[in-house]
Amino acid sequence: MSVRTGAGYIEALRAMNPNVYMDGKVDSVIDHPAFAGIIASYADLYDLQKVDERLTYDENGERFAASFLVPRTEADLVVRRKAARACAEYSGGMLGRTGDHMNAALTAFSQAGAWFADADPQFEKNIVDYATWVKENDLLLTSTIGSPQVNRSVSASEQGGGETTLRVVDQNDRGIVVSGARMIATNAPLADEILVMPQTVLRSSMDDKPYSFAFAVPSDIDGLTLLCRRPLRRGTSAVDEPLAARFEEIDAVCIFTEVTVPWDRVFLFGHPAKSNTMFTHTGAAALMAHQSVTRTTVKTEFYAGLLAEMSEAIGIDGYGHVQDDIAQALVAVQMGRSALRAAEADGYVNDVGFFQPAMEPLAAVRTWYPRYFQSLPQAIRKFGASGLTALPFEGDLDGDLGGDVDRFLQGKSLPGGERVRLFNLGFDAAVSSFAGRQALFEYYFHGDPLRMASAYLSAADTSSHRDLVRRILDRTRRDGRRLK
Ligand SMILES: Cc1cc2nc3c(=O)[nH]c(=O)nc-3n(C[C@H](O)[C@H](O)[C@H](O)COP(=O)(O)OP(=O)(O)OC[C@H]3O[C@@H](n4cnc5c(N)ncnc54)[C@H](O)[C@@H]3O)c2cc1C
Repeated sequence: MSVRTGAGYIEALRAMNPNVYMDGKVDSVIDHPAFAGIIASYADLYDLQKVDERLTYDENGERFAASFLVPRTEADLVVRRKAARACAEYSGGMLGRTGDHMNAALTAFSQAGAWFADADPQFEKNIVDYATWVKENDLLLTSTIGSPQVNRSVSASEQGGGETTLRVVDQNDRGIVVSGARMIATNAPLADEILVMPQTVLRSSMDDKPYSFAFAVPSDIDGLTLLCRRPLRRGTSAVDEPLAARFEEIDAVCIFTEVTVPWDRVFLFGHPAKSNTMFTHTGAAALMAHQSVTRTTVKTEFYAGLLAEMSEAIGIDGYGHVQDDIAQALVAVQMGRSALRAAEADGYVNDVGFFQPAMEPLAAVRTWYPRYFQSLPQAIRKFGASGLTALPFEGDLDGDLGGDVDRFLQGKSLPGGERVRLFNLGFDAAVSSFAGRQALFEYYFHGDPLRMASAYLSAADTSSHRDLVRRILDRTRRDGRRLK
């Protein structure tokens, strides 16, 4: 198999039996109402691969998801971007854990065999075989990185006295045995597989050896419990909850109780220093950022479009401050697009041998966007005001009160029902629980933005900027007396 269908995805989910808790044990993920909308969306995305050519590429006469294309040229990066764009367009960028995100990492890892072999030749074989298997079966992966949030003033391995963070507690002929928890894996109950990646940042001493690993497990492996947060949607119609009804990705704490991870699923173990560089030195960070900046750029486009539609609908589009907010969103779209093009144009063949996008422009967006994004729902709330509360249920749009809705809830350019539908979208993008979780998700998507900014600064080369300052200072010193 190369490209999976929606039915194939649903069939695979039905055959799985993950140990999921959400207000009690979930007997069947596939039949639970909290997952119905998101499963349908993920199935749709698989089916889209059959109709939208941007989503796939040809390899020896077979089609594969374009997120598996190993980039050799700038043109290949463009193919990857267009695919990520097509995927993001489906949800207006609301789906953050679509398969293309982890596929980007796996594609890089699959080329970095020597980097893994440097730790152990078996790890090279394991990661390359695993990536090939995921690609050929078009599986859906999620990942988990962070340790439980017990006491952030000590290291990850010291959380809860060393008893809470996921660690290797034993190893035997079959594999490594792991116990402990990982903070969050979004979508884990609906994914075929969970990539359990090295947490940032490990101490390079051997004290952190039990915490330094990378492996993959099926979501229903024995000993793994997925403890989900409460669902955010009320479960009414898709008109009432246009985003939450279809795009709510559930977050789950992953609790491992003596889970045996077979050796052929272990990609790294016992190399804390190497673990810290797994994403950067393999080129995975760059391919993942190329995908995520594409997604967030589409998301900004969605918010810009929504702001424009809402402002026109109630006749506020001529006011200066409204125009300013829309202009800022359009500028943000251009910044995202420009960074992507710059990253592609300045791409290069990296140490592991594929053509990777330049990290600098992507890192800049990655550092800026989590905080900028927060202004978009804020602008929706500012524009919509009480219109974001005058939102009857779908059932009341055409019922006894249909005439009143049309009369009293009409907009300047829209009949009542249409205006309610549009403002419902605004509510779900800026006011609802779904919107709150989106804001949290974007803020922390790449990690803590404040520490990301510090890391960005430490990696940045400021010498040319400082030279500029020194040259001007030198000139003022030279000209000082002469221009008195
Ligand atoms: C909705 C959502 C979905 C997520 N999905 C996934 C997923 O699928 N997979 C995954 O791996 N992760 C996921 N995450 C986790 C995400 O990667 C983390 O939220 C992020 O890395 C921040 O870590 P933390 O949540 O543990 O925050 P913490 O590190 O606990 O930070 C909490 C606060 O304390 C401050 N702080 C803590 N330590 C320090 C320090 N040393 N110096 C300065 N300030 C500090 C931070 O600035 C922050 O304000 C998800 C998070 C959210 C919110």
